Amino acid sequence: MIYLDYHATTPLAPEALEAMLPLMQELYANAGSTTHAAGRQVAELIERATVELAGLLGAADDELVFTSGATESNNLALFGTCLHPRQKRRKIVSVATEHKAVLDPLLRLERQGFEVVYVPVAQFDSLQPGVVDLGQLAEVVDEQTALVTIMLANNEIGTIQPLRAIADQCHRVGALLHTDATQALGRIPVDVDLLDVDLMSFSAHKFYGPKGVGGLYVRRKTRRVKLQPQIVGGGQQHNYRSGTINTAGIIGMHAALLGCYRLNAWSDGAESVGVVEWRRVAGLRQRLYDRLIQREPSLSLNGPGWPSEFGEAGELTRLPGNLNCCFYPIEGQSLMMDVPELAVSSGSACTSAEPGTSHVLRAIGLTEEQARSSLRFGIGRFNTEQDIELAADWLLASLEKLRRLI
Ligand code: PLP
Repeated sequence: MIYLDYHATTPLAPEALEAMLPLMQELYANAGSTTHAAGRQVAELIERATVELAGLLGAADDELVFTSGATESNNLALFGTCLHPRQKRRKIVSVATEHKAVLDPLLRLERQGFEVVYVPVAQFDSLQPGVVDLGQLAEVVDEQTALVTIMLANNEIGTIQPLRAIADQCHRVGALLHTDATQALGRIPVDVDLLDVDLMSFSAHKFYGPKGVGGLYVRRKTRRVKLQPQIVGGGQQHNYRSGTINTAGIIGMHAALLGCYRLNAWSDGAESVGVVEWRRVAGLRQRLYDRLIQREPSLSLNGPGWPSEFGEAGELTRLPGNLNCCFYPIEGQSLMMDVPELAVSSGSACTSAEPGTSHVLRAIGLTEEQARSSLRFGIGRFNTEQDIELAADWLLASLEKLRRLI
């Protein structure tokens, strides 16, 4: 099997597994049990990991809330700010290309009386498909706006949003900015101060950490975000999220993110890795695209293009390992079924309970048929050049066969 579905999830990094094992064996004490030495030992490990993890994001340790993943973080960010008793504003602004873990809480807030405005994004035939229209955003975000929620990087077409410019518009009128950075973290450098966001969601299993653990950054240093807890009980994590913390998960998440920063030379302890990970992955994406387009000139790229020479990762407009192509008139599902040894996706794995066509591709103007004929590839750390060559061979052979059948 060739796994090209790194946007759905990533394999666990060996360094994350190694860091987690002691917490699942001898260091099993509850980090909240500080009455005894065993509990204090775990609490200290967690504290150290939290400080370092926060540091990688440009945050302070008391600005992180650990959760079960990005879905919970998004729920906490949206409900926690909008339903806070001191929240007087009743308008929320977003885009239609968000993940369901943002869109569904927004629907619920709308039912509870909030006005939710979706600003259009650039269409498939523009330079930067999926990028929010900053002019329209400026017209919509006003003194009634409680929250703007716009993802940093899209999970289907890889579009990276100009968050700093969005933040400026929000803060001019006192609105909060939340970003779902689930697909960005570990793939591009992320710094909460450079982006100037107030809340940011992330999930360990997207950057080679374990599943079922993630976090929400909540700004407290320069502006104090008011957040109402959504899970109440024992008052853990400064009362922001009750429940015994997932100690092994947090330690694994920290080790995994540190690994990403090292392999990309974004942290002090960066290894001399030759070609940094994101450049290697972007090279593999280029290779896959070149192989496909050479033999299938009618194939079209969904989402932003990329320059042949990359500058810095912080300047990217599309995630380095993301490729999304339309193979019309061949259906994505047919291709996937015909090449069962290739793990790719036709849309977002996270909405697999709901099979319809991709709402992201529809939002950038693709027809129902074009969206149904599209596949998403997510290339990552453990992919090799051979993987890419073989995947291209399989896909091209299958396309030829399927075309003869229609
Ligand atoms: N947000 C985005 C952009 C995602 O890609 C995903 C998962 O695919 C999620 C949220 C949900 O993350 P989790 O699985 O950690 O709940």
